Formats: sequence, structure tokens, C-alpha cells
Amino acid sequence: MLNQLPISRLSGITFPAIADGHGAMQLALQYQLDASQWWSPERLQAHQFEQLRALLVHAAGTVPYYQQLFGQQGLQIPERIDAEYFRQIPISRRLAIQQAEHAIESLALPAEHGGKEYGKTSGSTGRSVRFARTAVTRTFWLAFALRDHLWHGRDFAGKLAAIRWFARGLAEAPVGAHEPNWGVIVAPLFATGPSCTLNVAATLAEQFDWLSRERPDYLVSFPSNLVALAGYAQEQGRALPPVREIRTIGESLGSAQRQLIETAWQARVVDIYTCEEAGYLALQCPSSGDYHVQAENVILEIVDAHGAPCPPGKIGQVLITSLHNFATPLIRYEVGDMAEFGEPCSCGRGLPVIRRIHGRKRNRLRLPSGESLFPYLGEHGDISRVTGVKLYQFQCIQHSLEEIELKLVLERPLDAAEQAAVSALMQRNLGHPFRVRFNFLQEIARGPSGKHEDFISLIAD
Ligand SMILES: [Zn+2]
Repeated sequence: MLNQLPISRLSGITFPAIADGHGAMQLALQYQLDASQWWSPERLQAHQFEQLRALLVHAAGTVPYYQQLFGQQGLQIPERIDAEYFRQIPISRRLAIQQAEHAIESLALPAEHGGKEYGKTSGSTGRSVRFARTAVTRTFWLAFALRDHLWHGRDFAGKLAAIRWFARGLAEAPVGAHEPNWGVIVAPLFATGPSCTLNVAATLAEQFDWLSRERPDYLVSFPSNLVALAGYAQEQGRALPPVREIRTIGESLGSAQRQLIETAWQARVVDIYTCEEAGYLALQCPSSGDYHVQAENVILEIVDAHGAPCPPGKIGQVLITSLHNFATPLIRYEVGDMAEFGEPCSCGRGLPVIRRIHGRKRNRLRLPSGESLFPYLGEHGDISRVTGVKLYQFQCIQHSLEEIELKLVLERPLDAAEQAAVSALMQRNLGHPFRVRFNFLQEIARGPSGKHEDFISLIAD
């Protein structure tokens, strides 16, 4: 709900505010989202399927990849879509979408969806998905980003800080970049305080000093970066500057990381689940802390290895159907994350509940037995404890069923005895006697979108 009046764009009028075109459209969307969040799951699904039908007709008619897919399956589009029909649509694996290249794009994008631009997923193994976005998808991206602010009752008069990925040369330490307002999501509609940003390539010392100078009310960053900052502050015996709330983006947030960040800052952490291809997938519930699927934006399924739906509590693959992208329709698309649904939320919202997001499949450890699991990498500081050497950055890469590589940024390289101690620690944590190869680096590069992954498996499916 609005807890602040929008900016009025009509001279002499302040209350109630009269917004301009963009503002009016965004407020109109919030008005609907404010209602639809309380609808029953059945009612939400009925509207999703109505929107899906329009997308399917468009995709089957104008997108070569779907023309072929529907043709091969002999799928006709019925007057009314139901769950049974929806599940007959074949799942599109990431690889199939990568290989389809331009065939996944519409040959006849409705003109009013316009403003086509291209995005690319990250993927540090060099495999990325290229997709187009439109003015419509941007409008919805802004709407769900604003919903997150409204759900969590953020005070727009406060100061916002973000430490995130930018190309080198932008928002660099020590100064970062400064804006008089909160930017494109909020500022066109509401009066806001200032914002500042810092390139995450800054050292932890630079980040700490920057935060101490800026003293923001709200802080946004990657979980791995916040954990590293907390460790740095502790090591230096310096108190982190207080913030009202921390928002985490870009990587999956484990419960241990959440706890560590909340304890270090003495502030609540609010996580956001997005993907480059479809924008906002789930937001954290303001009352329960579970995640609510943004059902007005996507149909999100969780399925097992056979494509059957997973009940609450069972971990499976996340499939998304992005309801408004007519440039690159994504229908039952395997986004690459694992997650589990939860039971309906105590807040009363009908939006589906995700209890946990387990991150990327490539973040699962493969064992020689054929099993895969989310690797336990130990507690923050373990490696420093067993060696007495300060650890700055860590990444574990699985190259084969027998070998892992540890990329480490340390105050100095480890000697043979220290390496043996760390190997034993990793073997214990991972639950298998892997051969451990050490790689001592000055810095571990982040992926193209700024994501840092603690663990990557390079073993193909
Ligand atoms: Zn809830």
C-alpha cells in the first residue's frame, strides 16, 4: 500500500496527486497488483492462463521455434487453457533455447510492445542465452520492483546505497557515483532522498570506508559481497555503519549467509529472486519471510527429473513462463535454478509460496555414486582457522568426479602442510575424498553480471 503521496504533475494540485502518463500507468498497475495479491490461487491461475493463451497464439503464429515445437507435438491452442493442457507443452531446456538463437524471436512483434533491446544471461562457463526485451517487459519490471519497495514499507526519504556490478571505470572507489534520487523505479512517482552506488570491484577496505562516509539507510548488494564485508569488519575490529535494511540480489542466499549478514549489521535482510530473462520471479513476504511468486508476471513451476510437478517441500527444477514478453517468448523454460514450494502463507496472499531457492544446478556437487547435492563448504573462516592464514576470497570448482580446484585469495600462498590441512577439511565438508588442486590468485573475477559463485560444477548433465 502507498504510505506516501505520489508527486502531482498538475500545477497547483498536491492532494490528491494527479500523476502524469508514466506515473499514472505505474499507479494503475500497483492498484491492480494490490488487489490481485489477495486473490485465491485458483483465481490467479485463471487470469494467468487467460494471459498465457494470448502469448501462445502469438508464439505459435510468429516465433519459428514455437511454430516447430507446436507442429511437432500436434498441439492446437484451445479456447480455454487449463493445467492439464499447459503441462502438455514440452519443457524448453536452456540448451535448446541457446541453440535456437534467432528462431526464438518473434517475426511480428506488436508495434505497441516496441522498444526492443537485447539482454544476455551470464554463465561463467561461456554458455549464455540471448533474448530480447520490450517496452512492455520494462514496464512490468518497474512495477514489480516498486511492489517490493511498497511491500517492505521503505521510507523513500531515506538514503539508498548499492554496491553492485558495473563495467570498470563506472562508480569506482573511492568516490562511487551519486544521484539526487532513487532512480527510475521510484523517482518518477515519489519524492525521494539521494542514492549512491559503488562498483563491487572495490576492495573490502574501500567498500567499508565508502559505507562509513555515505552512511546510507538502505543497502543493496550481493550476498557473497556482504558476507565478505562482514568478515572484513570483524577482522579489523571495526563496527559496520548501521543501516535500516539490507537487500540481497543476484545470487541465491543461503540461511547461514542470511544469519551472518543480519547479525553483522543488526538489520533485517530482504532477498529478491529475479532472473535476467524474465525479471522478478519472487519477492520476500513482508510478514512471513517466505518468497511469493510474482504470479502476475510469471507462471513458475517446480518439477522433478521426469517433468512431474513437485509437491511442497520437494526440491526440483524451476520452469518459468514469462507472461508478457512477446519478443522472445519463454514458455516452460528451464531457468537453471532449483527450488521448493512451501505451504500457503500465513499472510493470506494467494501468490504461490517458495520456501527455499537452492540456486543453480551447476552449483550442485556431483558424487561418483551418481548423486548430486548442495555442497557444504564449511563455515566462513574455516580455512583461516586451520592454516592461520587470512583468506580473502574463495571459490571451489569441480572438474571431475574425483577432482576439485580451490581458487583462493590469501595473504600468502599455503605451504605443503597447510595444503594438506585444507584438503582434509574440504574432503570432510564435501563428504568424498576428492583430489584437491590449489590455485592461489590475486583476485577471483566475478561473472559478467557481477555474480560470485562459491561453488561451480563443470560436469555436464
Ligand atoms: Zn506471505
